[in-house]
Amino acid sequence: MSLMTQQEADELVTKGLENAAVRALYDEVNASSPIISVPDEGHCWGSITRPGETEIFVAPTAFPAESLYHELLHAQMKIGGYRQYDQYVQTAASFPLNVLGDALDNELQHHRFFSKFTDAGFDPARFYHDGDGESYEHVRRDIESMDPAGTSAATYFLRYLTVLSPGGHGSDAEREALKQFFFERVPNEKMDAVEAAAADVLAFGESDELDPGETIVNVARRLGGFHGWWVGKSQNFPDDGVFTGDAFTMADAAAFAKRQGR
Ligand SMILES: [Zn+2]
Repeated sequence: MSLMTQQEADELVTKGLENAAVRALYDEVNASSPIISVPDEGHCWGSITRPGETEIFVAPTAFPAESLYHELLHAQMKIGGYRQYDQYVQTAASFPLNVLGDALDNELQHHRFFSKFTDAGFDPARFYHDGDGESYEHVRRDIESMDPAGTSAATYFLRYLTVLSPGGHGSDAEREALKQFFFERVPNEKMDAVEAAAADVLAFGESDELDPGETIVNVARRLGGFHGWWVGKSQNFPDDGVFTGDAFTMADAAAFAKRQGR
């Protein structure tokens, strides 16, 4: 059940399009990848751009221009050649690379287009639609509840993305305080790995690179624990993707799946 009807979704999009910058980007995206707006099943705006079509998921919001512009920036980036890695092959029981990959896909795009959002005159605090993004307080409580010895660098890194994320509700001082909290709480060697992975994310954000494959595996390798994975930008294995460690074959993956009883 959606939280809103198609008509309500359409009305929010129409309201967002009253903003000239939103209208211009909407027309640009729509010209190369026709846009369909649909009510989201949950509380979050979102979008999928595939060849020939962009689907925008609409959720209740007080700021339809900002929410729509954010999704149009995702669409513009993909139309402009940014490659999404969403194919995963596994040969070992290790951390779920798909969880890290999905988070990075979103974050890497945000780092690239945040300045376009503010250039259009929007408040950085509204970069994420209502309810999106974890509050600093929530992340802090989460970190507090974790056992520093038993928690992986990867788990900490996924929370640390909130410190790295551009825009949002927190002030610079609050962001810095949360960062310091990580350093107080997380063991040094894990924080070193988190910081090295964070530097990869920031470097991608400052580059013109459209293919995040190397960044994804570099982050995974720095964090450790993601052995035995291949991640690809298409199903063309292994040419269109990268391994987190040693190369393997589809037969290896099939043998692993069989051992797992799949
Ligand atoms: Zn986004």
